[in-house]
Amino acid sequence: MNSIIELKKYAKENHVPIILDEGLDFLLETIKKYNVKDVLEIGTAIGYSAINMALIGATVTSIERDPKMYEQAIINVKDFNLADKIEIIFSDALTPNLVNKEYDLLFIDAAKGQYEKFFNLYTPYLKKGGIVVCDNMNFHELTKVEDLSTLSRGVRGLVKKLNNFKTFLINNHKYKTTFYEIGDGITLSIKL
Ligand code: SAH
Ligand code: MG
Repeated sequence: MNSIIELKKYAKENHVPIILDEGLDFLLETIKKYNVKDVLEIGTAIGYSAINMALIGATVTSIERDPKMYEQAIINVKDFNLADKIEIIFSDALTPNLVNKEYDLLFIDAAKGQYEKFFNLYTPYLKKGGIVVCDNMNFHELTKVEDLSTLSRGVRGLVKKLNNFKTFLINNHKYKTTFYEIGDGITLSIKL
């Protein structure tokens, strides 16, 4: 696949949870606005967001643990001739020491229950003035459910973790965090 439309269609047909249009626009605008060169992405899936970021000039390192997703991402990156702009690391992102350079932007878009762990593991690789963008902070609106007992136990656990992560961001004074009701809920945190 070598067009964005085809990638989107493939994602839809195969239930791959790629970033929503609004969220992608926001991410790309952020990259332009802050003159981001190097991006670290947690959660590649089929490479849709990584390819979009590389197409506007960013260099992307992206981590993916699912072998099928990883294989498809590698194919897609090749089809777009972006192998020199996108490096995909096949691993669980919670494995230490996967990366060793500094990034301008960290995009967290993997397992929703582990955002705080990803944040703590990867922000040491973020430059001062660097940016953390987190996708799916509303978890399909579920973080707004008032009576959590209406949710299944697994989902309830994830929603609690995401809400705790929001509080963690707000209380973290090394970062200035803004919450955006865009796409599935996006946070932007600037490293002070
Ligand atoms: N950023 C992509 C979508 C990612 S979907 C886009 O918008 O195009 C989330 C992906 O994160 C899934 O492919 C899942 O396999 C991966 N993932 C979840 N937890 C992970 C972990 N701990 N380490 C690496 N990848 C993970
Ligand atoms: Mg997402």
